[in-house]
Amino acid sequence: LVDTSYKRIKEVDGQVHAFLTLNEESAREEAKKLDAAADQTASLFGMPAGIKDNIVTKALRTTCASQFLDNFDDPLYNATVVDKLASQQAVTIGKLNMDEFAMGSSNENSSYTPTRNPWNTDYVPGGSSGGSAASVAAGEVLFSLGSDTGGSIRQPAAFCGVVGLKPTYGRVSRFGLVAFASSLDQIGPITRNVEDNARVLEVIAGIDPMDSTSANVDVPKYTEALTGDVKGLKIAVPKEYLAEGVAPEVKESVLQALKVYESLGATWEEVSLPHSKYAVATYYLLSSSEASANLARFDGVRYGVRSENADNMIDMFKKSRSEGFGEEVKRRIMLGTFALSSGYYDAYYKKAQKVRTLIKNDFDKIFEDYDVVIGPTTPTPAFKVGEKIDDPLTMYANDILTIPVNLAGVPGISLPCGFSEEGLPFGLQIIGKHFDESTVYRAAHAYE
Ligand code: GLN
Repeated sequence: LVDTSYKRIKEVDGQVHAFLTLNEESAREEAKKLDAAADQTASLFGMPAGIKDNIVTKALRTTCASQFLDNFDDPLYNATVVDKLASQQAVTIGKLNMDEFAMGSSNENSSYTPTRNPWNTDYVPGGSSGGSAASVAAGEVLFSLGSDTGGSIRQPAAFCGVVGLKPTYGRVSRFGLVAFASSLDQIGPITRNVEDNARVLEVIAGIDPMDSTSANVDVPKYTEALTGDVKGLKIAVPKEYLAEGVAPEVKESVLQALKVYESLGATWEEVSLPHSKYAVATYYLLSSSEASANLARFDGVRYGVRSENADNMIDMFKKSRSEGFGEEVKRRIMLGTFALSSGYYDAYYKKAQKVRTLIKNDFDKIFEDYDVVIGPTTPTPAFKVGEKIDDPLTMYANDILTIPVNLAGVPGISLPCGFSEEGLPFGLQIIGKHFDESTVYRAAHAYE
């Protein structure tokens, strides 16, 4: 499997650009050991895995696709999720391309060569986990890990025709995930089908003493939830998720999917998420505020490439940050610093926190009567490379259907549900109650 993985990477990655760093020598060595092992029963035994490049891997370069971390060649430890994958004998094939520091929806913010959509390389793979989704779609690895702060697992999964799950906030340890917006970030699996996804989550989920926000909630056997039985399942379909702006082909496919659920004995009703129209603004205020604090550590001293042109210490911080960060990252830091500054804090940050609670309450209310919420993952299939990059607000608006899920902290999955006329895939999104990934998987598997 490991040989096949590298063979495939050599064939296609020159066009797809999913990988930033390969782990070839160690991975082949590891594979040899596994071949010779007496016990070959671990749940991810020998499975080639790709890891998003904002997840720290011991002695394996970790850049967050930023020039600032271009020289971070030798991290001293593994993220908890990486140790957990290794404990079940998955093999790390390499590190995957992304939007710089996970800020973006198209991979065009990678400071290296952006990843392309394997279905058609004129199109973006989505972002920020574009490399994670494209590598699975292109058959370069069997599964990958991505991170999702405002849609970054589900949106690229939708654009690349694969399955991506953002777990409940707190379900998976964030230790070793380079923080973007700590109250929203979650790591999750991207796979070719629902069963693989459930299998990987089983391995990476669970409380971790190294992450105080990881939750002490039992991890069920997710694979056992895949019964095919959705009789009596109560589905809520928010009218805002099929409103204007959603492409007719996407809407049509979601309605078809709901028919499939009906035929399997589930029922659905239209509901409303009245505050979801504020989600994009709320998200970009909160996530940028948190990012402005989290990215303060990149100063050219503790982390990062140090500017060579500085005269004194302050100058060194300024020049290192000016040279190291890309445009979008700077935009977020400035927005976040503004929103947190005294005098503006109440008007922006605090207000956004209040709206966040309203958005969460919308979901809580729906989940009193329904088991899952279903809608599209994105309003449209993948867009063309270059189409939105000069217009950040249009780019941000693309996240309208994924972001509410992060703000509410609930789990959401994207799985393939149709193709556009151009042959580009798009996704069905299934959202569940806090810590109820089992029902999300059961519903996804029954449709798949
Ligand atoms: N597109 C969103 C952003 O740019 C999502 C990012 C993410 O989930 N990491 O912030």
